[in-house]
Amino acid sequence: MSERKYRITTSCPQCGCSGTSHLSEKELKKRYGDVPNIELECHECMMVMEADVEEGGGKEK
Ligand SMILES: [Zn+2]
Repeated sequence: MSERKYRITTSCPQCGCSGTSHLSEKELKKRYGDVPNIELECHECMMVMEADVEEGGGKEK
């Protein structure tokens, strides 16, 4: 019953904004597909940046 959770961290090099969002594995795959690197568009300046995905919220290895 445990679903993996991921933390997606973004920090825009251009305008300096940053954000963190939490998604489950299912949501992550639905939105971004099964890719190792996720690219997101900054909603402030529309620059495309690479997001940092960390597994979190579950049990530690
Ligand atoms: Zn930005």
